[in-house]
Amino acid sequence: MNRICPVDLCTGCMACYNSCSHRAIRVEKDCCGFLYPEIDENSCVNCGLCFSICPVNHPLEKVLPEIVYAAYSKEESDRRSSTSGGASSIFAQRVIKEGGVVYGCVQESYADIRHRRIERKNELYKIKGSKYVQSEIGDVFKSVKKDLLEGKQTLFVGTPCQIAGLRAFLRKDYAELVTVDLVCHGVPSGELLQECVREILKKRNLPEKDYQVRFRVKGKMRKDLKYGIFLSDLIPDNGGGVGVEEKYPHNYYITGFITGLFHRHCCYSCSYANPRRISDVTIGDYWGIGETALDVGKGISEVFLNTEKGRTFFERCKEEMVCEEREVMEAVRGNGQLQHPSVKNRNYELFRKLYPELGFRWAARRCLYSFYVHYYLVNRMKTIVRSIPFVRQFYQVIKKLI
Ligand SMILES: Cc1cc2nc3c(=O)[nH]c(=O)nc-3n(C[C@H](O)[C@H](O)[C@H](O)COP(=O)(O)OP(=O)(O)OC[C@H]3O[C@@H](n4cnc5c(N)ncnc54)[C@H](O)[C@@H]3O)c2cc1C
Ligand code: SF4
Ligand code: SF4
Ligand code: SF4
Repeated sequence: MNRICPVDLCTGCMACYNSCSHRAIRVEKDCCGFLYPEIDENSCVNCGLCFSICPVNHPLEKVLPEIVYAAYSKEESDRRSSTSGGASSIFAQRVIKEGGVVYGCVQESYADIRHRRIERKNELYKIKGSKYVQSEIGDVFKSVKKDLLEGKQTLFVGTPCQIAGLRAFLRKDYAELVTVDLVCHGVPSGELLQECVREILKKRNLPEKDYQVRFRVKGKMRKDLKYGIFLSDLIPDNGGGVGVEEKYPHNYYITGFITGLFHRHCCYSCSYANPRRISDVTIGDYWGIGETALDVGKGISEVFLNTEKGRTFFERCKEEMVCEEREVMEAVRGNGQLQHPSVKNRNYELFRKLYPELGFRWAARRCLYSFYVHYYLVNRMKTIVRSIPFVRQFYQVIKKLI
């Protein structure tokens, strides 16, 4: 087996795969469905290109942002159907309106989540929403390069490691390219998501077809936000309509995602989980927002402007948003993923051992057992303690104070 970088650090960015003109790199799945590049020695001519461009072997320069905005779309439906404030959607609409192209993570169905090229406004709904799974890159970087060489304004939105992969592949900056990365918690594989959805369909006697999955739904207030697996028919912009739902902590996939049970290995030592950024603009959830006149209830994005290009681009999009400039350190302090990578669940290795033998449901159930015991015990204790009259009153006073 011929690896391009240490397997534990490989992000699957596919810069190597897109670069090899000899088609000497094939993509193989590991035991949990993560895709890894491998060199086919029969076709390789030992040019060394894949080794030299790999962002793990040769990390790219990052920058510390000086400006951050809290922002959300002025369009209510746009905001509702986006994960946080809809900044990504505003950026994409602007680029399409000006005749450019957008690359983002498209969900054709729960079993087909990958980066694709979009050039029409009526297709933009497909990239909306965070998909808590690794988006397949395939050979999309080649398509980005073609657009750039034709002088097309191009927006690429992805995880930081995907942006690093794209930049490494391109090997130079293009004035027409704007890169936007997400604050990133880590990614499970598409195979694990598919297994989880199939289990749900089987349990509920539902036909296997092309459902769409959402991982978060909003309510009226921030506290109403729910994580889970929410399935619905493939309809444009399903911001409101939810069919089948399994919420956190009852769904094993979303619980495993939140507790770091089955991320790609590199996510636990992610070199992008810090304030230094790889892209022109970084977007995330503005969790740590302090006192503000903005309406935070229905989701609010934090938008870090990392480069001059990012600042100019944001100025062009700003009129479509309600926004407020904030302190960079406030945004960083409020977002754990900008301070350290996700912590590896202590049953991570056990899951990798059990999944190929038992399948998703039983492996996840076994590995999350101690989490559930702790979760239900703590909750039960809280309910009992809070039902004591004096404690209940004391708790309500404290709640009001914080
Ligand atoms: C796997 C993952 C983990 C995340 N973890 C955090 C976190 O810990 N903290 C935090 O503050 N924010 C996190 N985010 C980002 C956050 O969920 C929102 O995506 C972000 O705030 C932008 O929201 P929005 O309303 O502007 O756009 P949205 O409507 O959410 O648009 C999302 C944009 O992200 C892209 N995208 C969606 N899914 C993927 C994917 N799987 N891979 C690559 N690109 C994708 C789409 O192309 C689209 O352009 C995460 C996102 C993902 C995909
Ligand atoms: S270029 Fe990306 S996919 Fe290829 S080996 Fe390096 S990290 Fe892995
Ligand atoms: S060394 Fe060159 S030919 Fe061989 S896999 Fe890498 S890029 Fe392809
Ligand atoms: S956590 Fe880091 S390595 Fe993992 S997908 Fe996100 S950016 Fe890539």
